[in-house]
Amino acid sequence: MPPVFRFAPSPNGFLHLGHAYSALLNFDRARETGGRLLLRIEDIDATRCRPDYEAAIYEDLAWLGIAWETPVRRQSEHLAEYRAALEKLSALGLVYPAFESRAEIARLVAAREADGPWSRDPDGAPLYPGHAKSLSADERTRLIDSGAPYALRLDMAAACQHLAGLTWQELGEGPDGELGIVPARPEAWGDVILARKETPTSYHLSVVVDDALQGVSEVVRGQDLFHASSVHRLLQTLLGLPEPAYRHHALIRDEAGRKLSKSSGSTGLRELRSAGTSPAGIRQLVGLDQVSLGVSKTPP
Ligand code: GLU
Repeated sequence: MPPVFRFAPSPNGFLHLGHAYSALLNFDRARETGGRLLLRIEDIDATRCRPDYEAAIYEDLAWLGIAWETPVRRQSEHLAEYRAALEKLSALGLVYPAFESRAEIARLVAAREADGPWSRDPDGAPLYPGHAKSLSADERTRLIDSGAPYALRLDMAAACQHLAGLTWQELGEGPDGELGIVPARPEAWGDVILARKETPTSYHLSVVVDDALQGVSEVVRGQDLFHASSVHRLLQTLLGLPEPAYRHHALIRDEAGRKLSKSSGSTGLRELRSAGTSPAGIRQLVGLDQVSLGVSKTPP
């Protein structure tokens, strides 16, 4: 079976050099290994994703010389598959509705911080501070029937109970030089959101469902998602899905050392293209030689 790679952008902005680096690494790995390259459009956040950004993704990747298999998987067209996975986790007793608004959560965190530091997840966001897990079944039903909005959260403590010793295979490198067999630490994320009242999925849930359904064998993506792999390995195990290998790559940064954002002006592919940069020039800018010379791991 040839290895399967995927590039999975969200159409919530125009692609920049960081995306180009990730997409080119995936493309080069697929070429070097005789593998397949899939493109997946991660468009579950209907409030931020736009058709013109999606069209620009296809155009920019084609301009870079990247070829991918069709049809492209668009997550918004597969909500039923994510709902089925969510139901499986619910049936295991691992999902509960939490009704606090963002503002209430911020207030709860502030109250807890009055007593000392409150734990944060690897992205720096405070762990869920609420008590929704202990609401009675009657209270949950009453709140749901009242039309209150809610998030469906994973009961992390219960999920981890029988899953000690979870690991993943890291073929690239984590932000602190982690490589080889890396221990997963999903508990560092607390009770992550798996879905919301209006959306039967989240980034974590859809990414593991899709990687499995698409037969992805090697996930090549930025180091900003390194720690998320802990949650992904946990969900894969709970859902009985296969384990891909992971290859996290260094991030392209601006002159000030900051991660590039979607509105990154001078590092946007469209801006560079209209300023006369060629696809080969983009490869040079991200530290990748021509395809035939192979893949360099470290961007400048
Ligand atoms: N859609 C995610 C992003 O644009 C990438 C997801 C992944 O590679 O796992 O950052």
